[in-house]
Amino acid sequence: MKSLIVIDYTNDFVASTGALTTGQPGQAIENTLVGTTEDFIAAGEFVVMAVDGHDPTDQYHPENKLFPPHNVIGTSGRHLYGQLAELYQAQQDKIYWLDKRHYSAFCGTDLDLRLRERRITELHLVGVCTDICVLHTAVDAYDLGYQIVVHQQAVASFDPVGHDWALRHFQNTLGAKIV
Ligand code: ZN
Repeated sequence: MKSLIVIDYTNDFVASTGALTTGQPGQAIENTLVGTTEDFIAAGEFVVMAVDGHDPTDQYHPENKLFPPHNVIGTSGRHLYGQLAELYQAQQDKIYWLDKRHYSAFCGTDLDLRLRERRITELHLVGVCTDICVLHTAVDAYDLGYQIVVHQQAVASFDPVGHDWALRHFQNTLGAKIV
């Protein structure tokens, strides 16, 4: 069994006015990312929206010292971007919304349990940023024994060097299939 994890494809990470945006590279993957999500829904696979949720007044959260406020809970910056928002609106009964607090979709969430109870062994990753939240999710997936497939036309970063490095790391170090 397989699952699609859609990571942080929100206004703050993708829209031109987003607080921590990947900009053009993030916007360029929209059609592929949304099409892949539609395919997984149509096939009846377990589709997860893994979405950062932050509280900028939380003095203990390490990201608050590293980045400007982004994906703040209760703001439109945290809403899904573009056509993905429309797809979620139409199909939300078939999508599992996962609030996350750290880079990895596994960190402090019930994702591993949700996958294991469905006997899912293969994770397909799409979203942003390739070298931050997608990377950390992939590393945790590797450590937990999942097979990883990264859709290279559906991941993006604001940092092209980091993006290319992460794709090599997925393949060479985490044994991921790059498609
Ligand atoms: Zn964050």
